[in-house]
Amino acid sequence: MKKYAVICILGVAASAYWLLDLDQYLTLEGIKAVQAGLEDWRNDAPFLVGFSFFALYIAVAALSLPGAAVLTLAAGTIFGLAWGVVIVSFASTIGATLAFLVARFIFRDSVQNRFGIRLQAINKGIEQEGAFYLFTLRLVPLFPFFLINLLLGLTSIRTRTFYWVSQVGMLAGTIVYVNAGTQLAKIDTLNNIISPGLVLSFAAIGLFPLVSKKVVDWLKRHRVYKQWSRPATFDRNLIVIGAGAAGLVSAYIGVAIKAKVTLIESEKMGGDCLNYGCVPSKALIKSAKVAHQTRHGDNYGLKADEPEFSFREVMARIRRVVATVEPHDSVERYTNLGVEVVAGHARLVDPWTVEIQQNNGETRRLTSRAIVIAAGARPFVPPLPGLDEVGYLTSDTLWDNFAALNKPPKRLVILGGGPIGCELSQAFARLGLEVWQIEKEVRILGREDQDVSQMAKASLSKDGVHVMTEHKALRCEKDGEQKFLVVAHQGAELRVEFDALILAVGRVARLQGYGLEALGIPTERTIVTNEYLQTLYPNIFAAGDVAGPYQFTHTAAHQAWYASVNALFGEFWKFKVDYLVIPWTTFIDPEIARVGLNEQEAAEKNIAVEVTRFGINDLDRAITDGATHGFVKVLTVPGKDRILGVTIVSEHAGDLLAEFVLAMKHGLGLNKILGTLHTYPTLAEANKYVAGEWKRAHAPQRLLCFIEKYHNWKRR
Ligand SMILES: Cc1cc2nc3c(=O)[nH]c(=O)nc-3n(C[C@H](O)[C@H](O)[C@H](O)COP(=O)(O)OP(=O)(O)OC[C@H]3O[C@@H](n4cnc5c(N)ncnc54)[C@H](O)[C@@H]3O)c2cc1C
Repeated sequence: MKKYAVICILGVAASAYWLLDLDQYLTLEGIKAVQAGLEDWRNDAPFLVGFSFFALYIAVAALSLPGAAVLTLAAGTIFGLAWGVVIVSFASTIGATLAFLVARFIFRDSVQNRFGIRLQAINKGIEQEGAFYLFTLRLVPLFPFFLINLLLGLTSIRTRTFYWVSQVGMLAGTIVYVNAGTQLAKIDTLNNIISPGLVLSFAAIGLFPLVSKKVVDWLKRHRVYKQWSRPATFDRNLIVIGAGAAGLVSAYIGVAIKAKVTLIESEKMGGDCLNYGCVPSKALIKSAKVAHQTRHGDNYGLKADEPEFSFREVMARIRRVVATVEPHDSVERYTNLGVEVVAGHARLVDPWTVEIQQNNGETRRLTSRAIVIAAGARPFVPPLPGLDEVGYLTSDTLWDNFAALNKPPKRLVILGGGPIGCELSQAFARLGLEVWQIEKEVRILGREDQDVSQMAKASLSKDGVHVMTEHKALRCEKDGEQKFLVVAHQGAELRVEFDALILAVGRVARLQGYGLEALGIPTERTIVTNEYLQTLYPNIFAAGDVAGPYQFTHTAAHQAWYASVNALFGEFWKFKVDYLVIPWTTFIDPEIARVGLNEQEAAEKNIAVEVTRFGINDLDRAITDGATHGFVKVLTVPGKDRILGVTIVSEHAGDLLAEFVLAMKHGLGLNKILGTLHTYPTLAEANKYVAGEWKRAHAPQRLLCFIEKYHNWKRR
């Protein structure tokens, strides 16, 4: 409402300006015609004239009316150089800031909502370098000032910054124009005031801060190399430390674009994902699902039967699965691709040299023009008293440990309510273990919306997991052979007995033991990089879990492309990592897949969204498959079909999400999904139906009323 009031006031003011022909006075001829009168008036009432002129100037600039240049000349004519400059400098800046604020008030929210994801990069750039860009735009009198005011109002630049940079940036131009105004009689046209030479000089001054910032950045970067002596030649174009998802893809891209690449891995090729993460966990989940379906065979018209299986065989199958995938990441494969693969521990010696403590006992040093650190992350072990005494497992150790068991542990405690904790809890419960899942927060999967967390908790509980939220682990205790996790809940302590304890409370980037400290490469929770994935040393890059902010195989591979391409061709062109559309899936049953915003994040970020839901229970294929639990939830810009985020809870949700990931990445809205044929009967139809729900909610009611009347009339 307030916005409409402001628009009305502005509309009335601008209309009055044109209807009353006020524009005739704001021309060179107009000012010349009243010059003598203005000078007399100023002599009679200097303060009144000064304030009136000041107010008029502010109004013209704030309303973005043409005539500011002529008013600036008039200031020189009426008030002389010094006072003219003072009056115009403040009036023009105040007017510009008002225009900026009005544009921000009226349009910014809708622009940010509509193009929010795409504007993120611009907003970040504005935060970092906005003042420099604004200064350049202000100084070079080629850019229409009113446009600058309006456009910058739509960005995230701070009002204070906008004000002072505008005032300083416009000063030189103001002086030139006000000075010209002191000799108004000699001016025939506004174009005479600023010669092309002067424009060029302004442009040079305008670009100066930007160029000097680049030079300072360059100097800063080169200063970090000062203490090191650079090799005259290099053994390699690229050395990659770590052969997990990020390292493998970096090396692959390196050789694909004909660089000489060495890949160093201290443990197992394939890193976490292949050996301890995605692959074994998904193999486990599959066996658990088959066991679950056997147990609930009556859901499918079969006999419900307690599945008979050997735990050892289930774990052995997981090993076989890993072994089957292994060749994709093997030394042989990468060697055949042209990568030199070295088994050993890498350590940075200087910004170009890596020392390898080879697994065969030899030590070797290699120099490289560029280095990609892809050292990954390891499970976080919380400092719980008594932990070492009772013994614990993590994703790194549980596979080998369980594979050696003939019988599974009877009572399993899993600490952590994140994706890994949930996947393991459900899978082991389905395989007949008694599982307690302990989470200190109010709900599991806390990054997801409340309804999603609730559904996950219900699914896990139905499978027999004792999901204990708001239970904070305090310590571990041993009583003879019995082991306990002591937890705090609502002020009381209770002991949860276990035979095995799995820690799944997050994973921390590997930051020690390979030279980051010696080189002074800054680290926080991960290695600190810029948007090109460069560390403090521009030739050393980081990708994957060690760089964050995500901890997924697909994001590690995504970053690896940027790291390797920037490492090898960054001198010519560098690419900023694109984090705009990042999907992920938690592989419990039903799966939970998400891309972009959910309701929780939208509320935190104060972004207005429209929520459309389609219940999977209504979907034919889900009904035939007995998999009717779940929904597709799409967040869109209110009134528009532009997708801001999607959460799917369903069987195969991770696969179903791909259509929305594509749509978001390429700016396709729900109308496009609705207009796309989906095979019947598939789960993917849910995507089309949710688009249909959205369409129904936006049906043009008046038009439909009219059409109904038309049909009624046709029947007569
Ligand atoms: C149980 C579990 C399930 C998961 N499930 C999924 C999933 O379903 N989907 C998904 O996307 N992600 C999943 N993840 C996460 C995924 O595994 C990781 O995000 C991914 O492996 C990160 O790859 P990376 O290359 O950054 O690191 P890593 O895979 O950890 O690779 C780093 C490698 O560097 C080596 N290294 C470290 N330092 C040195 C050194 N100094 N010299 C030589 N070598 C070194 C390490 O030995 C390691 O092999 C899961 C993780 C776990 C634990």
